[in-house]
Amino acid sequence: MDFDILIVGAGLAGASLAAALRGTHLRIGVIEARPPAPAGDWDARIYAISPVNAAFLERIGAWEHLDHSRIAPVYDMQIHGDDGGRLDFSCYDSGLDELAWIVESGLMQRELWESIKRQHNVKLLCPAVPASLAREEDKASIFLEDGRRLDARLIVGADGVQSWVRDKAGIEAHFSPYAEKGVVANFSCSKPHHGVARQWFRKDGILAWLPLPGNRISIVWSAPDAVADELMALEPDLLARRVAEAGGNQLGVLEALGPAQAFPLRLMRVDDPVGARLALIGDAAHAIHPLSGHGINLGYQDAMTLADKLAALPGWRDPGEIEVLRSYARARAEETALLQYTTHGLNHLFRPTNPIVSGLRNLGMNLTNRIPVVRNALVRYAISGKF
Ligand SMILES: Cc1cc2nc3c(=O)[nH]c(=O)nc-3n(C[C@H](O)[C@H](O)[C@H](O)COP(=O)(O)OP(=O)(O)OC[C@H]3O[C@@H](n4cnc5c(N)ncnc54)[C@H](O)[C@@H]3O)c2cc1C
Repeated sequence: MDFDILIVGAGLAGASLAAALRGTHLRIGVIEARPPAPAGDWDARIYAISPVNAAFLERIGAWEHLDHSRIAPVYDMQIHGDDGGRLDFSCYDSGLDELAWIVESGLMQRELWESIKRQHNVKLLCPAVPASLAREEDKASIFLEDGRRLDARLIVGADGVQSWVRDKAGIEAHFSPYAEKGVVANFSCSKPHHGVARQWFRKDGILAWLPLPGNRISIVWSAPDAVADELMALEPDLLARRVAEAGGNQLGVLEALGPAQAFPLRLMRVDDPVGARLALIGDAAHAIHPLSGHGINLGYQDAMTLADKLAALPGWRDPGEIEVLRSYARARAEETALLQYTTHGLNHLFRPTNPIVSGLRNLGMNLTNRIPVVRNALVRYAISGKF
């Protein structure tokens, strides 16, 4: 047997799983098509990392090696409805140091990559592309396009939303496209943001302004396809003006720091993230609307949960045993389903409909804002995954 575990995909989910298994006896192979892009200007892919996942990254030795001059804490969140509704979350009111951290995707990716490259129980196969998958009772095998055969007791699909592993394993994925794109871009701003994340539920989509270090912000505008295409066609200075106006010019004049990028948005669910000698983690197991900023937060929790289950096994136990995989799937089912359905529901609630629905949703936001117990419970949930 070549490996105990073969992970396909060294994105944030796959690489963090490998890193979390550092202290174990498990022999790990990681198959990745391409290495991460080298460091450059500010990455337009940024994530709001919850404190629970910052703690996970710290536990696996990645957090302290990130360049903290490129990471911004979020102290407050202001959420605006489309008709005067407003919700405020503050770390001060909730007794926390910060609500989240805004971190570039590439920054985490490169750190995890360097870390697993040096890891004694990891063999990184890159560039490598799998061609076929075979599963037997006591092992699974992947044949690479270059003809190599790799055997393992467990295959982990961490290969993103279009997962090859999921497809070859015959695990059906249910896609519900939102007919929306997430337009992401970075801007400098003429007024300080004071570590406040802002979100507007607008008639033309959901716009988030997330603080970056210094007088900079990163935006995610989840907009219907036609609006997103229109935003992407704008010259950088016109896009900056449109984004500033959409946010009521709260941070003064915006200037584009690089080109915008657009990502199609969809909900993706699987009936079961595990099968014979196989488990899915990260976007291979679920895709979610970015309005709550939870995609990779869910992926990190998948990696942590699976790593904990595997690390707890005595040496004689088989990491590909279906009971082990089932207990991973059970542990992740509730949080994944809850976040998928709440973000899906919120997205639908704020679609342009009739004025009565609009009035009710804005009233709901204002009521929640006036009841600190409910508001603080929402903050605790966003941060720890528990009410
Ligand atoms: C607009 C937008 C905004 C978002 N904002 C947030 C946010 O604020 N917070 C948050 O938590 N999440 C956010 N997300 C979600 C987040 O981007 C994803 O959840 C996350 O990138 C998934 O990571 P992953 O490692 O599971 O998959 P991926 O990042 O897709 O990684 C998969 C890896 O597998 C490799 N691979 C794929 N196929 C193969 C193959 N056949 N062979 C070998 N290698 C392969 C790829 O090269 C890649 O390295 C957002 C998403 C969008 C679209």
